[in-house]
Amino acid sequence: MIDPQIRTLHFEAYRQVIRNFTDNELIPRENEMVSAGEVPADLVQRMAELGLFAITLPVRVGGLGWTVEQQVMLTFEFTRSSAVYRSRFSTSIGLASQILLEYGTDAQREKYLKPMAEGECVMAFALTEEHAGSDASAVRTTAIRDGDDYVIDGEKRYITNAAWADVLIVFARTEDGEISSFLVDRETPGVETRLPELMNGHAEGPVAEVSLRGVRVGADRLIGGATGLGMVHAMRGINQARTHVAATAVGQATRMLTEAMEYAGKREQFGQPLAEFGAVQSMLGRSYAELEAGRAMILDCAREFDRGTPPRHRIAAAKLYCTEMASVVGDRAVQVLGGVGIVGNHPVPRMWRDVRALRIYEGASQVHERNLARALPTLLG
Ligand SMILES: Cc1cc2nc3c(=O)[nH]c(=O)nc-3n(C[C@H](O)[C@H](O)[C@H](O)COP(=O)(O)OP(=O)(O)OC[C@H]3O[C@@H](n4cnc5c(N)ncnc54)[C@H](O)[C@@H]3O)c2cc1C
Repeated sequence: MIDPQIRTLHFEAYRQVIRNFTDNELIPRENEMVSAGEVPADLVQRMAELGLFAITLPVRVGGLGWTVEQQVMLTFEFTRSSAVYRSRFSTSIGLASQILLEYGTDAQREKYLKPMAEGECVMAFALTEEHAGSDASAVRTTAIRDGDDYVIDGEKRYITNAAWADVLIVFARTEDGEISSFLVDRETPGVETRLPELMNGHAEGPVAEVSLRGVRVGADRLIGGATGLGMVHAMRGINQARTHVAATAVGQATRMLTEAMEYAGKREQFGQPLAEFGAVQSMLGRSYAELEAGRAMILDCAREFDRGTPPRHRIAAAKLYCTEMASVVGDRAVQVLGGVGIVGNHPVPRMWRDVRALRIYEGASQVHERNLARALPTLLG
């Protein structure tokens, strides 16, 4: 539950709370999280108390009512810590909440939004399948009407938070051949989740496979009460999520560059700190320039988002640039650390592995490049 004091704070005071939480609780407990292999439950509780599950929802439905620009500024703060922490509430704030807010029926909004904002109802977004990855419209999961119910059958994979979510938003093909979206309680008979044996990055917040076998849900679980709108719903969540992923890449790059700078200032070779070598300065200086370019890009998109329609191509461009930038900055930071970047448990190589996934989910980089190239006549015309 959100601490009532949090709701009284103006934005700058709230940002300071999140900055302190990041510096004093999240970052110091990263090693503990890595050893445990999961985010400690009391930290998830603190995230809920501080309102991190509520940052994208308006006050009228129990959220904190921050603008998209403010959400991005907050994301720059908490993603200076492990991206795994953020992924614990990412599906609730980005993909799922925005779909329900914009397209849910009154009853669906009434039932889910407040508990989501409080962190009491965690949602996952189940779109991807073996044959429907970048081509998300190739979904094969079916939802067949049977009286007052739908019966859902299919297999989903790579679903963030699915193993501990309360509710899954499942995308399935209805009898009209169109994709529709459904709210499915994870405890419904026929729903099973499985965690992978190994993750390359995001190891403490693994994605899950989801089997849906004869899963019966009432017709009132069809989001918006109409079939055929699944991909419209997905895109609404995805634009919000891509904005946050780009901001996450900036937060992660900020931390990796800070760590590299501090190390370069202390470590001496050839009688001087690494930071005095021109080649090291070049890596650090260039990284800062690229980091600031990414930060400016996503803030500018967020402001346009706040003015009305999400600028989807500019969001895609920022997501593409920022996530690639974070990988490059991370790679340079590992280089500055030398062997320490490869051997042992320094946070930089862990974060470098974590940011690698950002170039694949919410649209692989090459898919964004293709879409942007196709849209150039409109964008530049
Ligand atoms: C950590 C993580 C979390 C995730 N969380 C979720 C989630 O919560 N919910 C969910 O539904 N899904 C989730 N996903 C799935 C993610 O959205 C997919 O992995 C992504 O869409 C890519 O699909 P794919 O992995 O099947 O790769 P593929 O589609 O097989 O693509 C592989 C590669 O081929 C290239 N490629 C593909 N298509 C094109 C094209 N048109 N043009 C040029 N190149 C192309 C790209 O280089 C791409 O990286 C997650 C994935 C990861 C890794």
